[in-house]
Parts: sequence; structure tokens; C-alpha cells
Amino acid sequence: MIIDTHAHLDFPDYKSDLESVLSRAKEAGVGYMINVGTSLAASKKSVTLANRFDNIYASIGIHPHDASKVSEQDWQAIESLVREPKVIAIGETGLDYYRNRSPHEDQQRIFRKHLTLAKTHNLPVIIHCREADSDCLTILQEHKNGNLRGVVHCFSGTREMARKYIELGFYISFAGPITFSNVNSLREVAKSIPVERVLLETDCPFLSPQPKRGERNEPSYLSYVIPVLADIYGLSVQDIRRITTFNAHKLFGIGEPEQEGKVAYAIRNSLYINLTNRCSNMCAFCMRETYPIVKGHHLALKKEPTAEEVIHAIGDPSGYDEIVFCGYGEPTERLDVLITVARFLKSKGKRTRLDTNGHGDLINGRPIIRELEGLIDTICISLNADTAEKYEEICKPVFGEKAYPALIQFIKEAKQVLPNVQVSLVEMPGVDVEKCRKIAQELGVDFRVRRHDVLG
Ligand code: SF4
Repeated sequence: MIIDTHAHLDFPDYKSDLESVLSRAKEAGVGYMINVGTSLAASKKSVTLANRFDNIYASIGIHPHDASKVSEQDWQAIESLVREPKVIAIGETGLDYYRNRSPHEDQQRIFRKHLTLAKTHNLPVIIHCREADSDCLTILQEHKNGNLRGVVHCFSGTREMARKYIELGFYISFAGPITFSNVNSLREVAKSIPVERVLLETDCPFLSPQPKRGERNEPSYLSYVIPVLADIYGLSVQDIRRITTFNAHKLFGIGEPEQEGKVAYAIRNSLYINLTNRCSNMCAFCMRETYPIVKGHHLALKKEPTAEEVIHAIGDPSGYDEIVFCGYGEPTERLDVLITVARFLKSKGKRTRLDTNGHGDLINGRPIIRELEGLIDTICISLNADTAEKYEEICKPVFGEKAYPALIQFIKEAKQVLPNVQVSLVEMPGVDVEKCRKIAQELGVDFRVRRHDVLG
């Protein structure tokens, strides 16, 4: 199921065949659509559409083009519409200095009114911004508080501006133009944004993607946008569908995300195994306590699975390139299960990887690396600091000062026993990346730097 977060299905373009458009959307897996108001009249129509179809929700607002025409009466009517049960967002509002159809002062005044309305009703805001990012960001900063949130739709700004919206907690959505052949710069901007902040939209009837460019757009055409985003992020089409749906749920509260942690979950062409919530670290960047979601998968386990349950959850592993013991906690906390499952995977000829904090010996009270010989092809060990003091500060290991020397010893032993050993570092302020790289070089293992805001 996917969500079109920005459609104008109330437009006359759909007068004669709306039912067919919705039926094609359903066939393409579009579970929900948000119909976005551009004027008082269109906002009323959005609400009417949302009341008519279970899978359509409404956003209400007045486009910046019409800012100079908004009367006090219009605004009061918008304020009363906000109480309609299927209104889930405010907008589209914002600033458009490209077409300049209303004076800037009027656009800014009406934008501010929308932001106040959104905050009063604790609703996200859908922002239209063209060639006005600097003013847009200034106004958002003015209104920034706990519940200001939203999306900048059909993003066309720079990487730097995208970063600032993200820092303000906003999402970014891309429509058909991301599929055009001449927009490498837009694709580069998209690449710089964490996929956890990306939403799908069509902006239909406008901005049809390739190969429908120039035709009327419709929600089912998201199926042309998703592969392009998958390519940009190096993810699968399924990953983009799941992640953007989860993102839309998080922002707008629509859809039904998973409630229970998964034991086995796919990202790209790898299958990840989640054995436990437990870990001997409490890393500053870890999402276990706060946000147990990785690439749209819910990972907080209600109960630790047995080896049989893990094997059952894996099913047929033949379609995956690699099976990774990773997940929400530290896999070596459940060494017996890990070994049983790895043995099963090896019997099927699968490549295996273990992502670990390197505390396996301390956790199990014995050197464990020989037990993994022949079962694990690649081990990726989190180094995370160039000194024991820094490691304790960032990772807060339950083993205290013993943890870092034991981790280094574990890397050395892994190098002796396993075919591929990699150490990784999550970029954190105060961590010396080059010193960590040097440690990896001296240990003779590969080195990888990870962004703290990118998981999976
Ligand atoms: S080692 Fe991994 S699972 Fe454990 S606290 Fe650190 S980031 Fe979280």
C-alpha cells in the first residue's frame, strides 16, 4: 500500500472518470490519497470528496497565488472547515515568488495565518514554495514550536535548503519531475535527504512523470516515480513503498503501520534477522529506546524468537543475496539461536553477515569467534570511537572500561578466523574519523563511515 500525499482530484479534469481513476489507483496499490485544497471552494470540494470516499482525506487551505484575494469571510470559512473529521492537514499554503500572482506581503501574511491555524489544531502543514525558500524558512523559524510539522511539496529547492527544512523537522515530497531526464540536480538534492523524510505525491492533474509527461496525471502514476526514487536511494521498489507509506502515516496519521516487531525483514535484496531487543550498549545515536523503526519496518520484539521461529520467519531464503543478523539489539546476546540459524542458512548455501557491537566475548563469558567459523562470511563490528574514553562516552557499555579493549581484541580475532571483517563508525561530533580509519588500517580490516540519521 502506498499513499499519494498530494492530489487535486476535485479538479474538473476528473469530472467524467473519477471512479476509473480511483479504481486504477487501487490496482496500483495506492491505499490512501490526500486531496489538497487550493482555494476556499476547492477546500470545500476536498472535504466533500473525503466524505464520499473512505480512502481520501482532505487538506484545506488557500494557495499563495490567491493570497491577495482572501477575505476575512473566506478565512473564517476555512477555520470552520478545519473541524471536519477527515481534514488531516492545512494547505497548500506557502510562497510563490516564481509566478508572483499575489504581492509578497500578502503571501507572507496568509502563510502565517495557515501556520497558526495548523498549530492551533495540531495539524501538519502542506507547503508550496517556489523560489522563496529563504523567506519560507524564516517564517517557519518564527513559528517553530513543538507541534509545527509538515511537508514541502514538489520540492524544487537546493540541497542546502532541503537540509534546513529537514532540520526543522519537515518532510520533502517529490512528484513527476524527479523522473524527467534533465533533472540530475534535483536527483542529487533528493539523494542528500534521508529517505525517512521523503513522501510520495503526484500533484495530479499536474506534473505527470515520464513516460506520461504532458498527459493528465493521476495517483496510479506513482508507479513511475517509485522506481526512480528506489534508484536514487539504492533501495528496492518495495522498500520505497513501505518507507514512504510509513512516513506519510507518521506525518498525517493515516494508514495502519505494523504494530509488532518483525523477526525477519527485507531491505534491498538482503534479509535481516532480528533476534533480540537487548544490547550491552546504550549508544547515543541508537533508536532502540525512542524509535524502533528501520526503513519502515517495526523492530521492537514483544518476545524473543526461538531458532525454529526464526527459521519459520525466514521461509525460503533462496531469493536473497545475503542474510544479516542485525536488527534491534545485539545478536550475540542470543548466540545459540544465532548459531543454529546460521547453520540452517549455510545448509541452504546462503551468504551470511553478522552486524555486532563486538561484545560477544564479554556477553557470553568466553571467546566466541571460533564458534562462528564457517557460519558467518562477513562480520561488521561497530568501532564508533578512537579511544576507550570516547567509546564509553558515546556507547555507554554495561561492561564499562573493559568494553573497548575487548572490542579491539574481538576485531583482531575475527580477522584471524572470518573471511571478511569490516569495522564501522557512526559519525558523531567529537569522533575523529581519520584516527578510527587508521585503527582499522592497522588491524587490517575494512572501514565504513555511517551517517547517524541513516539506518538500514
Ligand atoms: S550497539 Fe547497536 S543496538 Fe546496541 S545500543 Fe549501540 S546502536 Fe543500539
